[in-house]
Amino acid sequence: MYNPQAGQSMGYGQPPGGQNYGPPPVSGHSMGYQQQQQSMNQYGTPFSGKPAMGQPPPSKAPMGGYNAGPPPPTGQPMHGQQNQNGPYTNSGGPSSQGQQYYGQQQQQRVPTSIPNQRLPQAQYGVPPASSQPSRGPAPSQLPTQMSELSISGQPPLPTGQQQMRGPPPPSNTSQAPNAYAGYSTNQPYSQGAVPSSNAPGHWAATSQHQSMGPPPTNMGPQPTSMGQAPASMAPPSMAGPPSSMSGPPSMGPPPSGGAYMGTQQVGPPSGHMGQPGMSGPPSSGPPMAGGVTPGYGYQQTGAGMVGPGSTPPSPGMGGGMPAGAAMSMGSAGMAASHAGMMQQPQTQAPQRRLDPDQMPSPIQVIEDDRRTHGNQPFTTNQRGQVPPLVTTDFRVVDQGNCSPRFVRATVYNIPCTQDMLKQSQVPLGLVITPFAEVKPNESSPPVVDNGANGPIRCNRCKAYMCPYMQFIDGGRRFQCNFCNCITEVPPEFFQHLDHMGRRLDYYDRPELSLGSYEFVATTDYCKNNKLPNPPAFIFMIDVTYNSVKNGMVPLLCHQLHNLLERLPKETDQEESSIRVGFVTYDKTLHFYNLNGALAQPQMLVVSDINDVFMPLLDGFLVKLSEAKLVIDSLLEQIPVMFRDTRETETMLGPVIEAGLAALKAADCAGKIFIFHSSLPIAEAPGRLKNRDDRKLLGSDKEKLVLQPQTTYYSKVAQNCVAAGCSVDMFLFPNAYLDLATIGQVCTITGGQCFKYNYFTAASDGERFLFDLTRDIERPIAFDAIMRVRTSTGIRPTSFHGNLYMSNTTDVELASIDCDKAIDVEIKHDDKLQEESGAFIQIALLYTTIRGQRRLRIHNLSLNCCNQMADMFRSCEMDSILNLIAKQSLDQVIHATPKAIREVIINQCATILTCYRKNCASPSSPGQLILPECMKLLPLYSNSLIKSDALSGGSDITTDDRSWLMQSVNAMDVASSHVYFYPRLLPLHNLDLEATNLPVSTRCTVDKLQEDGVYLLENGISMYIWIGLHVNPDWVQNVFSVQSPAQIDIDSGKLLQLDNPTSIRVRGIVEQVRKERQRYMKLTFVRQRDTLEPWFKHFLCEDKGFNGGASYVDYLCHMHKEIRNMLN
Ligand SMILES: [Zn+2]
Repeated sequence: MYNPQAGQSMGYGQPPGGQNYGPPPVSGHSMGYQQQQQSMNQYGTPFSGKPAMGQPPPSKAPMGGYNAGPPPPTGQPMHGQQNQNGPYTNSGGPSSQGQQYYGQQQQQRVPTSIPNQRLPQAQYGVPPASSQPSRGPAPSQLPTQMSELSISGQPPLPTGQQQMRGPPPPSNTSQAPNAYAGYSTNQPYSQGAVPSSNAPGHWAATSQHQSMGPPPTNMGPQPTSMGQAPASMAPPSMAGPPSSMSGPPSMGPPPSGGAYMGTQQVGPPSGHMGQPGMSGPPSSGPPMAGGVTPGYGYQQTGAGMVGPGSTPPSPGMGGGMPAGAAMSMGSAGMAASHAGMMQQPQTQAPQRRLDPDQMPSPIQVIEDDRRTHGNQPFTTNQRGQVPPLVTTDFRVVDQGNCSPRFVRATVYNIPCTQDMLKQSQVPLGLVITPFAEVKPNESSPPVVDNGANGPIRCNRCKAYMCPYMQFIDGGRRFQCNFCNCITEVPPEFFQHLDHMGRRLDYYDRPELSLGSYEFVATTDYCKNNKLPNPPAFIFMIDVTYNSVKNGMVPLLCHQLHNLLERLPKETDQEESSIRVGFVTYDKTLHFYNLNGALAQPQMLVVSDINDVFMPLLDGFLVKLSEAKLVIDSLLEQIPVMFRDTRETETMLGPVIEAGLAALKAADCAGKIFIFHSSLPIAEAPGRLKNRDDRKLLGSDKEKLVLQPQTTYYSKVAQNCVAAGCSVDMFLFPNAYLDLATIGQVCTITGGQCFKYNYFTAASDGERFLFDLTRDIERPIAFDAIMRVRTSTGIRPTSFHGNLYMSNTTDVELASIDCDKAIDVEIKHDDKLQEESGAFIQIALLYTTIRGQRRLRIHNLSLNCCNQMADMFRSCEMDSILNLIAKQSLDQVIHATPKAIREVIINQCATILTCYRKNCASPSSPGQLILPECMKLLPLYSNSLIKSDALSGGSDITTDDRSWLMQSVNAMDVASSHVYFYPRLLPLHNLDLEATNLPVSTRCTVDKLQEDGVYLLENGISMYIWIGLHVNPDWVQNVFSVQSPAQIDIDSGKLLQLDNPTSIRVRGIVEQVRKERQRYMKLTFVRQRDTLEPWFKHFLCEDKGFNGGASYVDYLCHMHKEIRNMLN
């Protein structure tokens, strides 16, 4: 496309060649380039000099991140709020006292406009804010968007919440009150304003804390501290008693047990309480009485709970009426309707615990962002522009920075100094999905072919020509924005500048105007200076007894023929260039000669598995069109040949080595697909022992089963990487496979593992075929090397993902497909300048599916700041979660689970404390103030801590745990977001006319109604929970039976019924599946059935299986930690 003219006038200085194009860097992995400067080294990274001023794109900092929404009421939270009604008000008044507010729904409404000062904090024992005040920037400084939310009183986002359920959201402010009311139940309360008088109520809340105390139960650390917390919170004056009593019933006892036990379970929390952390006086609250499962007792619709302690109107908070008491009563049997509950108003009792509805809601954040950015173009012409959330549907228009689909930063405004960043503890890094699929209405990076001269690069740092390079001297030279070095423009690339100093061909050359583009690479970028051959796919099939008997072999062979039609090809190709080959194995290897001239495939057996060699050179790898009949014949014969096998032992090491040998013999890169069923125990290289002991999971010794038992597989994997051989495994285990060990082959080679436990062709065949199809046809690049360059002052340090590194700078990827993300941590080398900003260029040298060598370039420019507030305003929470998750998983085999949790908790608290100190205006320490862009940090970090990937205990198998860890390690931001905060969609009240997905619901059992049906998905699996009191018509329409009890729970499939409800429900399931990378298995869960506890463990706002804290508890704990840090 963009052919440069090739003129060679030597006019301007030196001809390319020499250093610019230096020697082929390339060659491959093994060559590890010597980084740094070497001119030769194309990949070298040099940082020297100062950043050029390059013309950074508009310097305007984008204001606020996504929150575009109406900033919470006033700009400056705390203070400002006083006037507002509802939620906001609180801050003023009561809130000061602290968190207590959460709990109480009622409080909010208090429209009081009490100035903070008024707060009698003292009374409550809460340390007066005074100490810290000075710190914060003056309110004025606070950008509007920063709406920090003071949770205490007001949940920040009015808007959002309401939308979900309750009252119409109108303008926020005014309605604020309602907003919070959100949940119908609360409404009554909310409205009424319990004025300042409520204060007392707060107390109650306080008490809650106590109960909460133990929140983070399993989180080891806190226990101690917890104890104290309460104290501080507790208003001295308050009658002690109340508080204790008030213990929110629900909260109090971590009824974890109860929760899972099924709603029915009422009684006191089951023994589970034991959790370590629980120092909390269990006493505090009567254990949840009503079997309210979930933590927060009241709302439970489902459980038939009663409303909030509604019943007995306890005297406002004051009395400290034991809210608990109230609760328990309520719970007891009142199956009050929401409405009912609501009524009890204000007078009522108050606050027993935090009202979950008032805590920052991811649903609201997602919906707000959709409202602001949904279906809009996102134009990348500004430096440091924070993109829409991954959950928003938007269209990217590349105008100089790469699409956020390719690269997302955790922070779009980098602190100028290392100290600032360190103080904040906000992780600085990138999540790169270099081959992410673009939307149909967006364009893919265009390809630039500079012919034999190759791409233009900076002489010193070897950065590639990009929009930030600044042309000077009439266009004869350009200054590098990464290293500041000035390089002569090669004559064939010369162009005059316009009056703005911009090249006249600015819009004609992608490398001058776009954030993402590709260059055709010359032989200098190829191994041995030789253009590569097209890649190959090798299918290696385990034909031992288990694989044949479970139906995998017959199914695969029957379908593979069709799947091969889906081999990836470029748009102008009629047939894919990818060649294919087949191997079957048990304790020996069977290669097949598919030479098109043969009438029948020929089998060649290799039984010397200690030194695998390639038995045939010609005829093993063939193009589909050249050997169609022979391939068909082979696929028909394999199931027959091994139908009666008695071989139960299998091997794996020699299989991988054979695939590698075959690719090497063909001198091409490629991927091997291994279909395997059991632990490789046959006498052969890579033989493994069964060392499984799932009881260790979750304990300090878990690393014993989560780290590889031998280095054999990682060594083989490294050899694979050097040859551009990537490995994907499809596993069909009935028992332990030791994924921690064999999975390394996939993670190191840029591959992936797919796993189907207890596979049967009937129930899992569809899923397996879907995954395999996608794996075969998805966009992919081979034999790649990625280098991340940054402008002076920062540098990439560590990398996470399915990759290999033999030196500190080159990321080696035997392959990388559109679904894989790589995280890069960035550190300071020096001080940054606000004016110049910071630049990042990601260059990926790779081989296309057609065998062309190319360079894919992604550029991103970021802002730099001297004010913490600026950084906090431009954080990308979902990317931060992705990076923290991968950093934490890396530690699993080095540290204890407790230590890992502590690090996360501490990081979260430090970040929030830093914000509080530097950005929030003076306020009472009793208030919890969160930065708008990171208000979900507590929720998400808690979800991460409780996730099966990080904390899966003996409830899951060792292999499942390893598999999850490996899966998360390669996730992009959209995948990690839904994995850590699953999507819960109500299906019982659908708008049958609509075509989009219904608005999701918060992940808590409190939101499950007994007359509801919900779809839950986390990108890996999918569940439909069916309440026992669902409308019979709905059940009839979807399941063709009269009541939930009659539904065939084990079917895993929705019936194809011809009525609007059935069609709509199936449409939703299909749409959700389409959005994810894997085919999610669907499981039905009927309320109170045995699977319910498992289903509920995905409801990450509730307490976890193993004692993990609920959102409410965690937030309280976080608040306490922050207060401790402030003090
Ligand atoms: Zn440079």
